[in-house]
Amino acid sequence: MTMLKAVTIIMFAILSLSQIPVREIPDREYLISGQNTVQKIYYQTSSRYSRIHSGRMAMDSDRDTSWISEKSVGPHWIEIDFGIKRLMSSIIVHVGRKNNYRTVRTFTLQFLHQGVWFDFATVNCERRSFFGTRYNDTITIDLGGVDASTFRIYIPPGGTYNGYAAISEIEAYVGTGRIRYYDERLKGLCFPIENGYLPEADESYPNAPRKYRGGRHVGLDIYYYHKDNSYDPLPVTKDTPVLAADDGEVIRVDRDYKALTVSEWKAQSQYYQNNPHTFDARSFGGRQVWIDHKNGVVTTYNHLSRIASGIRKGSSVSKGERIGWVGNSGLLGEAEGRQYGTHLHFEIWVDSYYLGCGMALPEIKNYLTWIFFPMQ
Ligand SMILES: [Zn+2]
Repeated sequence: MTMLKAVTIIMFAILSLSQIPVREIPDREYLISGQNTVQKIYYQTSSRYSRIHSGRMAMDSDRDTSWISEKSVGPHWIEIDFGIKRLMSSIIVHVGRKNNYRTVRTFTLQFLHQGVWFDFATVNCERRSFFGTRYNDTITIDLGGVDASTFRIYIPPGGTYNGYAAISEIEAYVGTGRIRYYDERLKGLCFPIENGYLPEADESYPNAPRKYRGGRHVGLDIYYYHKDNSYDPLPVTKDTPVLAADDGEVIRVDRDYKALTVSEWKAQSQYYQNNPHTFDARSFGGRQVWIDHKNGVVTTYNHLSRIASGIRKGSSVSKGERIGWVGNSGLLGEAEGRQYGTHLHFEIWVDSYYLGCGMALPEIKNYLTWIFFPMQ
């Protein structure tokens, strides 16, 4: 290949990447739709009654939680901006309640059209008939087929019963396929260390550069936890239990694990500095357990000091079940017969990609917080 050709191909690759239509809206709240995308879905509301009634609650696939606005005559609104055009054929709005009282009497679905809100459909949640007034909590709006990036549910002044607007879910579909705001499979996973903390250091997150392990750190390193009666961070030790993130089947258990010697460890480390992309016969992950959650999600638990009895390949485990204990297996500390480096390296693999692949660090931190601490 000539130099010019190579340069042209590299230029083309850079240009193609830069053409991915990612629109950044600073200071706007957002969700990330998958594990391996930088495409954010932004949302905004006219107001929120409290932190746990934010707009996200209308997008979290949980009808028990709602976006609730502050009390006012209105208008109230919640806007969803995909940041990119999407095809949509229907939108389903699940109207919510506040203290078990109905809130929304009427609303309008609007699309942003040339910078101005376009009224697409106005819905009356009350349905009067010969038998009296009935209330519709679930409203399906057939769009016929639209191509749009931004829509909102607009509740006009006086459109509520008591000044609050509550919406428990807004679902958008193309055909029978629901547009995912974020990956529900990951929602509410159990943090693998009880009262564990997300790490402080950037290098403890997925995607942090590493000269070994494929050139990237692909997991989350957990070093600290707190006791029930205090938030003081305490370091994890070899007696800290490791918990299954979700129900699943054990697909790897290193019961016959043998530690590397110091010279083996150093030789392997040296090799991987220059050759990160290869098969690992004895990886730096040390003693591991892998769990298949049967929905495209696999989690792995690395550097364990021990594995709980009864955890075998093929075992079923439950969310929160103890599968082993933290350690420093696979690390230089273990090879040297010392304790340093003890932590849990925890990986989440989604549809064969590690969680965080292709994402920037602030997004990864946000995403992990949504997954494990959704009310924060
Ligand atoms: Zn790690």
